Amino acid sequence: MTAFWTEADYDEHELVQLVHDRASGLTAIIALHSTHLGPGAGGTRFWHYADPQGAMRDALRLSRGMSYKNAMAGLPMGGGKAVVVLDAQRTKTPDMLAAFGDAIDALGGRYVTAEDVGASEADMVAISQRTPHVCGLPAGEGELGGDPGPFTAMGIFLGIKAAVAHKLGRSSVAGVRIALQGCGSVGGGVARLLAQEGARLTLADIDSARAKSLASELGTEAVEADAIMGVACDVFSPNALGAILDEQGVTRLDCAIVAGGANNQLARREHGRLLADRGILYAPDYVINAGGIINVSLEYLCRQHGEPCDVGEVHRRIAQIPERLEAIWRESDVSGESPDVVADRMAQSLIGRG
Ligand code: NAD
Repeated sequence: MTAFWTEADYDEHELVQLVHDRASGLTAIIALHSTHLGPGAGGTRFWHYADPQGAMRDALRLSRGMSYKNAMAGLPMGGGKAVVVLDAQRTKTPDMLAAFGDAIDALGGRYVTAEDVGASEADMVAISQRTPHVCGLPAGEGELGGDPGPFTAMGIFLGIKAAVAHKLGRSSVAGVRIALQGCGSVGGGVARLLAQEGARLTLADIDSARAKSLASELGTEAVEADAIMGVACDVFSPNALGAILDEQGVTRLDCAIVAGGANNQLARREHGRLLADRGILYAPDYVINAGGIINVSLEYLCRQHGEPCDVGEVHRRIAQIPERLEAIWRESDVSGESPDVVADRMAQSLIGRG
């Protein structure tokens, strides 16, 4: 038997808890990577895993990712993540959600959950009936919370502008050629903001009707999903899947910048180096896509402190994303290390592990 703390993805996590509730059939893992800066915050993934190691790997890897992301977003939050292990039929019952809410509550606020893959807003509402340690709940008019997509999109838009300024010396994206992969909540928002400023967009989505409809709304062109990574452009903006920057993906790129919201874009660490060696400027994903977590974390913190939430504060913090990217690129230019390596080191230092 191999112990999980001997796995490559174990990184001195503070707590890794297996939750099993016999009555409801719930099996879940809650992982707290670091609470150095505050409660470990990160979503819950509901997934059917081919093997139990896959669930543990996700919990370990994704909770560490949240430590880095929250630290680099300047939030008083640590990193955590939960996975609920579903059966092959993906059974998810109200009793399972209640038991899961109780397990989060028993941690007394050390872990704060939110939506992730396989979760819905309704699931978060159900969990919130058993524990207050949930963020990303539905928001009313003018309130924080709700869909994080538009906030994530705003941060990415500002990050792309920063990358264009750094690499191409241009203060606007007007006339800049941008190939955008994924036209969903995040990609669609980024595309609209870029189009407003006059960027020349090429769009793609595996849902080709979605890409075509957005292209016609914005008066731009759409290409087949498998062609987008080879489009000649200034900026390639991935807003769909993770792990697209593998050896083949990086080799296909014909751009000066990669800047987009998809999580875990680099298939492996060495692919950050490969991008740098090709002279492509990379905006580390967890830094540029932090707008949504900024929104939901501030919603949570305001609710905890019984204070009114200020959307202006969310926008002020999102507006700091370009400075963070700029600091990473400056250090990368000086040290010769790739931006992903610099970002990881900055994040480690912020969580007291430098
Ligand atoms: P979404 O489901 O709304 O949109 C994703 C889109 O990508 C869909 O239209 C889908 O058809 C398309 N897609 C999937 N595979 C594709 C492929 N191979 N080629 C082209 N298009 C493809 O999801 P979203 O909320 O927009 O999230 C997009 C990415 O951003 C994900 O990686 C997500 O983890 C990340 N992210 C999202 C947020 C947020 O606030 N929603 C925050 C941080 C990171």
